[in-house]
Amino acid sequence: MSTQEPSSSASFGQPLAGQTALVTGANSGIGRAVALGLARAGADVVVNYVTDPEAAQAVVSEIEAGGRRALALHADVSDEADVEAMFARAVAEFGTLHIVVCNAGLQRDAPLSSMTLAQWNTVIGVNLTGQFLCARAAAREFRRRGLDASVSRALGKIICMSSVHQQIPWAGHANYAASKGGVAMLMQTLAQELAGDRIRVNSIAPGAIRTPINTDAWSKPEAYAALMTLVPYGRIGEPEDIAQAAVWLASDAADYVTGTTLFVDGGMTLYPGFEHKG
Ligand code: NAD
Repeated sequence: MSTQEPSSSASFGQPLAGQTALVTGANSGIGRAVALGLARAGADVVVNYVTDPEAAQAVVSEIEAGGRRALALHADVSDEADVEAMFARAVAEFGTLHIVVCNAGLQRDAPLSSMTLAQWNTVIGVNLTGQFLCARAAAREFRRRGLDASVSRALGKIICMSSVHQQIPWAGHANYAASKGGVAMLMQTLAQELAGDRIRVNSIAPGAIRTPINTDAWSKPEAYAALMTLVPYGRIGEPEDIAQAAVWLASDAADYVTGTTLFVDGGMTLYPGFEHKG
């Protein structure tokens, strides 16, 4: 089959049929929604977790109830041996991977003067080094497998979960903003380096999404109202908003998209403070 034709196994509504995906940090928030969304789109899914195996197993059960295969695998994404073992096990169980979503992330907030080196290293280790380790393992597996255009026009797809803070400075969160700024350049560099192999690498930059990472920003009415001054579209994002973007980026519908950050932020990066000023 010519690689110019759409893949035959991807039917409408199941654009990821016949593909396998691995999502890091998939037992909570955005990662959970992305894992479920990819499965609804036809993919079998490896559900990575580092804590709370019961939550990971619940995601697996939900995916299996929908008719797809799923497997919960423990790994700390900042640990090289853990990541390598997770990818080896995923390939042993599912044969290969076509989609890897580097989603796991955390915050350790502090003003600069009181930020400890441990807080800095933890955030850089998970949010940036974790993405490097998973992207490297993904590219190695995509190359080992080789192209099968009946499954996807790309050899493989890597999606990095970034943040609007790859662009918006964030006082009191220097480690987090630096990690996401790093993700932006990591993603673009890998996209450039891997495009010749037909590996697509893109980022999603969520704005404010209703998950456990930022409960303080949305759980109380005053906090929610303050948050909305930063969101022109006037609502908080839901994890499903990110899942929809991930399905599209992973699918052949986005086959000509690589090296791009898709902002899913209700306009947060439109500098809403300038709407009536400046
Ligand atoms: P969350 O806390 O619900 O989920 C984070 C996940 O990462 C959890 O499953 C957690 O266990 C996992 N994780 C943390 N450290 C890990 C490690 N060492 N190894 C493996 N997994 C690990 O938060 P979320 O909002 O769903 O965050 C998901 C991603 O989205 C993060 O990268 C975050 O920076 C990004 N993001 C979130 C928002 C938002 O508003 N919620 C905005 C922008 C970006």
